[in-house]
Amino acid sequence: MTFRGGTGSGRTPGDVVVVGGSLAGLLAAAALAGPGRTVTVVERDVVADAPAPRPGVPQGRQPHALLYRSLVAVEELLPGFGDDLRAAGAVPVDTGALAWLGELGWSPDSEQFPVLSASRPLIEHVVRTRVLELPGVRTVDGARVTGLSAADADPGSGADPGSPRWSVALEGREALPADLVVDASGRASRLPVWLDALGVPPAAVEQVDARIGYATRTLRLPVDAVGPAGVVIAQLPDQPGGIALPVEGGRWLVAAAGAGDRRPPREPDAWRAYLGALRDPALAEIVDAGELEGEVVVHRQTANVRHRYDRVPGWPGGLVVVGDALCAFDPVYGQGVAVAALEALALRDAVRRDDLTTARGARRFLRRAVRAGALPWAIATGEDLRLPTSEGRVPRATALAGVWTGELARLGTHGDTVAQAALARVYHLMASPLSVYRPSLVARVLRARLRGYGPPVPRPQIVRGAVRGAADVSPPAARP
Ligand SMILES: Cc1cc2nc3c(=O)[nH]c(=O)nc-3n(C[C@H](O)[C@H](O)[C@H](O)COP(=O)(O)OP(=O)(O)OC[C@H]3O[C@@H](n4cnc5c(N)ncnc54)[C@H](O)[C@@H]3O)c2cc1C
Repeated sequence: MTFRGGTGSGRTPGDVVVVGGSLAGLLAAAALAGPGRTVTVVERDVVADAPAPRPGVPQGRQPHALLYRSLVAVEELLPGFGDDLRAAGAVPVDTGALAWLGELGWSPDSEQFPVLSASRPLIEHVVRTRVLELPGVRTVDGARVTGLSAADADPGSGADPGSPRWSVALEGREALPADLVVDASGRASRLPVWLDALGVPPAAVEQVDARIGYATRTLRLPVDAVGPAGVVIAQLPDQPGGIALPVEGGRWLVAAAGAGDRRPPREPDAWRAYLGALRDPALAEIVDAGELEGEVVVHRQTANVRHRYDRVPGWPGGLVVVGDALCAFDPVYGQGVAVAALEALALRDAVRRDDLTTARGARRFLRRAVRAGALPWAIATGEDLRLPTSEGRVPRATALAGVWTGELARLGTHGDTVAQAALARVYHLMASPLSVYRPSLVARVLRARLRGYGPPVPRPQIVRGAVRGAADVSPPAARP
């Protein structure tokens, strides 16, 4: 089978099949739902009616922080989503009220972005409930897609020759016909194999792997037992970090994150010791204040991976890719859901304006999708390349930008909430990275350099009523 990227007209994508019913697939389905269209979300797992971790989403038991941009974008796709998530138990968190220990010190407590903190299964459950209410959307659960085949368009139909009608093969079930296939099957997507079988040239794969591992435990502890809204100990090139976030049901998720041979351990005592030996014992203090539940859950598939499907010659019409299957990020920066939502918005616009069943329309969407993830990609890979566990060098422009953002971060650790907010706007994908060069910020840096930075932000009290430093800070046991 060959696909010739012609310029003729395709078809109205009446039958859409989305491969993968996780966040990217569900948000894509929301974007594509519309009159005269049937959107079938095919999911390998049998998905429970209540929020629960599932095997197809192995990262589901790790903390998932939602950038403010992700909430704004999902709200645009599913109006009222924030209210639904809050009603389901998500904890409102102001990102400026997180106790954040960066490379240079603690950030000041300030007002920033109102986000919601919830477990990954709850976020998906609320999205799924809303998406399945949309007209024309249905799911086929417990069904694994095993491949794609295509028939060239009927020569007499006037349709683009690069615009096939797809047949989506399912394990042990009848294949599904589709005018448009959306691959949202995550990091483990088999699309490269399926494309190879179709004779489509392989896409270049860009990768930066800092070999980061997560180890997380759930803790029963009232939200207000901790002073700050949550705690982040940023990972540094030579030191591990971690995060503690409140979630629904009076629980906290506490994760350690480290790279290479300093990845956090699975064994409970070693995990607790690892937290105690971080640059600051805040996470260990939280753990000691609560009641631990379940086991330590480890996850190590965290590489930044981007498939350049947008550059593949002879790309077929009626096939697009979203979410981690297109571009997966080191999760430490919390960007995956935001990018999936931005891609879904791009898909909604593309299906209104363009003809995705043609090769040209599909390629144009893929280019937009890659652009939607370009800033997060630059942030995540730029930071990860600083880690000795990554191969490759930080690009010169990124390194220079890092010097400037380091200046602003320094102001933040001395209480400058304006500089801190400017960085947060970019981090939450709410402003252009160029916004950090505005003259008023330059003036603030120069003033501090001439007149001094003032006192550093003090360490916040972590557990209410606890004495600072009460946690055991003994060195960790041997790490795996
Ligand atoms: C440790 C960790 C922590 C993270 N933390 C954050 C965070 O704080 N903030 C954030 O925004 N993002 C975070 N992410 C990223 C986030 O999980 C993903 O970006 C997001 O879930 C979107 O993923 P997805 O839907 O593309 O893929 P996945 O969530 O991986 O889902 C893929 C789906 O496809 C299904 N599937 C796969 N193959 C087939 C097939 N052949 N047939 C049918 N179904 C199939 C799977 O069962 C699964 O349901 C984190 C990721 C990891 C690994």
